[in-house]
Amino acid sequence: MSLLKGIAASNGIAIAKAYRLVEPDFSFEKKTIEDIAAEVERFKAALATTETELASIRDNAKVKLGADKAAIFEAHLLIISDPELINPIEDKIKIEQVNAEQALKETADMFIAMFEQMDNDYMKERAADIRDVTKRILSHLLGVEIVNPSTISEEVVIVAEDLTPSDTAQLNRQFVRGFTTDIGGRTSHSAIMARSLEIPAVVGTKDATAEIQNGDLIIIDGLKGEVHINPTSEVIAHYETEHQRYEAQKAEWAKLVNEKTISADGHHVELGANIGTPKDLEGVIENGGEAVGLYRTEFLYMGRDELPTEEEQFESYKAILEGMKEKAVVVRTLDIGGDKELPYLDLPEEMNPFLGFRAIRLCLEEKDLFRTQLRALLRASVFGNLKIMFPMIATLDEFREAKQVLEEEKEKLVNEGIPVADHIEVGIMVEIPATAVMAEQFAKEVDFFSIGTNDLIQYTMAADRMNERVSYLYQPYSPAILRLVKMVIDAAHKEGKWAGMCGEMAGDETAIPLLLGLGLDEFSMSATSILKARSQIVNLSKKDMEKLAEKALGMSTTQEVIDAVNHAVK
Ligand code: PEP
Ligand code: MG
Repeated sequence: MSLLKGIAASNGIAIAKAYRLVEPDFSFEKKTIEDIAAEVERFKAALATTETELASIRDNAKVKLGADKAAIFEAHLLIISDPELINPIEDKIKIEQVNAEQALKETADMFIAMFEQMDNDYMKERAADIRDVTKRILSHLLGVEIVNPSTISEEVVIVAEDLTPSDTAQLNRQFVRGFTTDIGGRTSHSAIMARSLEIPAVVGTKDATAEIQNGDLIIIDGLKGEVHINPTSEVIAHYETEHQRYEAQKAEWAKLVNEKTISADGHHVELGANIGTPKDLEGVIENGGEAVGLYRTEFLYMGRDELPTEEEQFESYKAILEGMKEKAVVVRTLDIGGDKELPYLDLPEEMNPFLGFRAIRLCLEEKDLFRTQLRALLRASVFGNLKIMFPMIATLDEFREAKQVLEEEKEKLVNEGIPVADHIEVGIMVEIPATAVMAEQFAKEVDFFSIGTNDLIQYTMAADRMNERVSYLYQPYSPAILRLVKMVIDAAHKEGKWAGMCGEMAGDETAIPLLLGLGLDEFSMSATSILKARSQIVNLSKKDMEKLAEKALGMSTTQEVIDAVNHAVK
């Protein structure tokens, strides 16, 4: 057995067989072929294997996912039997005497380029189908295995170099018991999604894909950040007990599900949930969320080939507002960029995506896209208690421009006779240090702040939130961060506004006493952290935490702050 250490990204314990989600090596060299007949046969054999494989995936998908999801594989089967594609490949092998891999690639590339240039969206999508089918045939020519997470039909732990947020969104909770990745940090979006899906995860292990083979028995300890590979029976027994202990603790916390979050000395704070899709609402209700403090709308735009329409967006926003029954729902406008990509926007690659053309910067440039989202939000506003929040605001000019666009869309709707709520609070994420420093000026114009510590910490410490090698600099309890947080809360209160936090720090056990002491009004976190946070806050005195926070602000190092919190509350 062996042990890997990483970053505890999502609580809980998982025990299951490993499933490697790793893209195989498709590289090959162009070769001149002597025995042409044998090469054509080799190509035909690869085609036949591909056909059998696709038919079985299609049958499987039909049973597990339904006929519409299976239709894509039906289309792939048609492609591999299409003489217009297959004959030119065989001709190339015969005439140019090249290996089957080369003939396949050259022919497929020609068709892909042809379909991609077409005006018609349907035909454009055929390019993606040919690319998929080509990969599959190539895998059989090269003898490498293609991974397809949608065919997983037994309990597994996913092992990957990294998981994109859209990979994570597609994981089937029924079979995927946990995951581990080589790279990533606690606030990378795959980790955030894991928490909302309640899948135990350890990220940033550096060596998971190098050390773990398909079928190895894996234990994911998402509480300690450990991954055990082929553990002994004693270790397995220990973890089975730990798992039960964790479940028992959850049952204890669950007793507070219908309670308000009131400190031991009577101060009320609001505990909200961060969500990524309307499906997450169930978890918010189950975990006693008092609000949705952050709806990351970018997930509506991901895992698809084109922008969502105004109508689709309206339906999602309406469902969430109605589902929360008059409780506040803070919807953040599109925050694409950083580790969240939208391939269909065709944005050029950037050297520093987290510092680049993202979020509000993109929305103010691509106004049509922004206006569509705002219209959908405004139309949905009459169905509940909507608050709108702009991400990555760095200057007052950006905020004013975004608000102006919102006002224009509101006026248009009113003129069209479409109902819009009378008063919608409009706030900003404070996740750029310049904005925290200028909070007093912002507070005069915004209705609320929500502190995005995931980004605020990375920008303040100049440490990429995705890079495990600099994760030691990711220090939420640093006096530097606490001072910025205090500036934001004080500025809001001076103008009679409220200040929340929707970065992961808001649900952190060591940070919570400090944030309560600093006067934070709203804490928004993964739904699965709410009950634990509530059970902590009801036992804390705000007055005592104010003294603790005051001391922490004057400290010199993060460790001093951690020691002071441990001393005060444990
Ligand atoms: C943050 O930056 O703290 C935040 C909540 O936004 P995201 O994690 O989506 O960047
Ligand atoms: Mg952010």
